[in-house]
Amino acid sequence: MFSDHPKGLKVLFYTELWERMSYYGMRGLLVLFMTASIADGGLNYSNISASAIYGIYASSVYLLALPGGWIGDRILGQQKAIFYGGVIITLGHFILAINFTSTFFFGLTFVVLGTGLLKPNISALVGELYEKKEELKQSGFTLFYMAINIGSVLGFFICGYLGEKIGWHYGFSAAGFGMALGIIRYKYSLPILGNVGLKPNLQITNLEKRRDIRLVTLLLAIVFIILFFGILGIVKFDPVPLANILTLFISSIAILYFFYIFVFGSLDTKEKKNITMIIVLFISSAFFWAGFDQAGSSFSIFAKEYTNRFIFNWEYPSIWIQILNPILVVVLSPFLAALWISLGKKMLDPSLPFKFGIGLILMAIGFIFVAIGANIAISNGSAGVKWLLLTYLFHTLGELTISPIGLAAISDLSPKKYVGQMMGIWFLASSLGAIMAGLLSGQATNEGLVSMPILFNKIAFGASIFGMILIIISRPLNRFLLEKK
Ligand code: GLN
Repeated sequence: MFSDHPKGLKVLFYTELWERMSYYGMRGLLVLFMTASIADGGLNYSNISASAIYGIYASSVYLLALPGGWIGDRILGQQKAIFYGGVIITLGHFILAINFTSTFFFGLTFVVLGTGLLKPNISALVGELYEKKEELKQSGFTLFYMAINIGSVLGFFICGYLGEKIGWHYGFSAAGFGMALGIIRYKYSLPILGNVGLKPNLQITNLEKRRDIRLVTLLLAIVFIILFFGILGIVKFDPVPLANILTLFISSIAILYFFYIFVFGSLDTKEKKNITMIIVLFISSAFFWAGFDQAGSSFSIFAKEYTNRFIFNWEYPSIWIQILNPILVVVLSPFLAALWISLGKKMLDPSLPFKFGIGLILMAIGFIFVAIGANIAISNGSAGVKWLLLTYLFHTLGELTISPIGLAAISDLSPKKYVGQMMGIWFLASSLGAIMAGLLSGQATNEGLVSMPILFNKIAFGASIFGMILIIISRPLNRFLLEKK
């Protein structure tokens, strides 16, 4: 599989595999753990609070990709950023494994900080491996996307079983062991990476470096002081208003960034048109993840409480249902890649907004199935697993028309000098999507099962309208943007 690729890819493949194993394994348990009663070892939070915390958590992971990339570029270099990121994530999972409520938010904060450091730097390093083999880069990224999904299969399978069947904290420990294994393997294989990503990409003076380190330390100190006050009860956090504020904050960063780059980025007309396309993709992708990320929130609650999961009198863990998504990504990616290539040869390859429009409509179809399932559960007490499986099938097809394509489009459309930042902006769309997902999940589950079909149908309606608008404007938009001036 790796034969034509740079040797370093294998190192990054396994590191990302174990990082995603720990990320998805833990994320799968998160809402279930928070909403479980104290008697069941959980935190007994309401659905709406647990969903908002899930949103804040998942969104912060992607939001911190911006400073994480910045630290990798200026201070640490990618190799070290990945290593320290992995160590911090491992610590976070082991803190979560401690059976105390007070340490829970510390654990989560560590996982957020570590992932923010690891994820953007490992993605950038994959690209850098291909400086001399540009033609293999796309297929390198495809292999990397496979690592992500093989990791999630393992995470859902192992952490899901241990967490749901044996005890929550065993699931969190398994995530910690997975990341520890990944980071030990990484450290051991570092010589294979050689000089790629060894030093920071940007040459800055020692003075600037010291100033940067002071800034990062100060910000970290502020985060931990606020957290400490929160845990001691000195400051009270209400997750729902906090999630609303975060949504505004992330949207403002995006608006200000795009405004800044348009006005002060010294872009020519062509580059401005490319950025316009990136804005369209950004908004569509944020909407897509807002729906898709129900997997770890409202769908998790639906799977656990209202889905019949018995096989031969054994009730399998609810998280296992999510495994369909990564399995299908691994199985279907090569077919979709072949489809785009063959359509491309016939000059029929659909434009980017068209593909994103299709992705949103596929997501909407997925929501119709889970809404049917929820209605069945309202009348029968529970629904068959097929409804969630159908939802995951359509959501995966949507993911494949949006996520890998978006990644490639960003690297093609970004002005050369801004590629790194644009990758950060791409993750910012995931961040905005995740926080909206948390808020939507709160609305979907607020009154238990009865509120689910109403909201799922609303999302289906909204996503299909948005998808259709994208398809309708795709032609004129493309004509305008591709026009040479
Ligand atoms: N599944 C992909 C990953 O974990 C993309 C997720 C996202 O961008 N929201 O990397």
